[in-house]
Amino acid sequence: MKLRIVVDPDLCIGAASCVTIAPETFQMNVENKAEVLDHGVADCGPSYERTIEATEEEKETIILGAQSCPTLAITIYDEAGTQLYPAI
Ligand code: SF4
Repeated sequence: MKLRIVVDPDLCIGAASCVTIAPETFQMNVENKAEVLDHGVADCGPSYERTIEATEEEKETIILGAQSCPTLAITIYDEAGTQLYPAI
């Protein structure tokens, strides 16, 4: 499945819990904000938003990472554009 993952750099406070839980998907940049990777690779350069192909297991890990964010800086959408997290 495809997932669109968006980090709001204005909300990110650099707590890095998303990186601890899902290091294949999130990494800290020089500004101490989380950026989105594609399976550990920033293939098109670093980005606060990326659409990646994910297995069900990877999806669960990415959502756990998003749930760990104290400021709800991470939003996840499915390929139809439905918001998976945070629940609306
Ligand atoms: S958990 Fe949230 S605040 Fe912490 S680095 Fe990740 S996006 Fe930023």
